[in-house]
Amino acid sequence: MIIRIFPPLRRITRRRRRKAVPDEALRAEAKAWLIPRLATLAEKYGFTYNKVFIKNNISNWGSCSTKGNINLNMQLMRLPEELRDYVILHELCHLRQLNHGAEFHALLDSLLGGREKELRRELRKYHIGINGASAS
Ligand SMILES: [Zn+2]
Repeated sequence: MIIRIFPPLRRITRRRRRKAVPDEALRAEAKAWLIPRLATLAEKYGFTYNKVFIKNNISNWGSCSTKGNINLNMQLMRLPEELRDYVILHELCHLRQLNHGAEFHALLDSLLGGREKELRRELRKYHIGINGASAS
């Protein structure tokens, strides 16, 4: 007699696949939009980054490493365009200031035409969440 503890493998796979479709679509959209947008903004403001990675995590919208690699969350695609730009510019500014000190904020604010605080407040209304970004 076989006692089955786990659901049959096929059922798990099917459920995973169903869940994976929208994620993959969002990832494709993120790659198609965020990567060229990062390149455009970097060129416009004279930043040089190393590599860009599209991530899907709930801990941050983006990050910048000491190696000059930029990570962008694919959930950014669920945000208004100006907030996507805000996050991209925030990460680009970390290429020059790898902290959140006064010089970092002054640089970012100058690139955003004095709207840094306003946009930061706006971004706080959104949570990345397990099922994607949502407004609070
Ligand atoms: Zn930062």
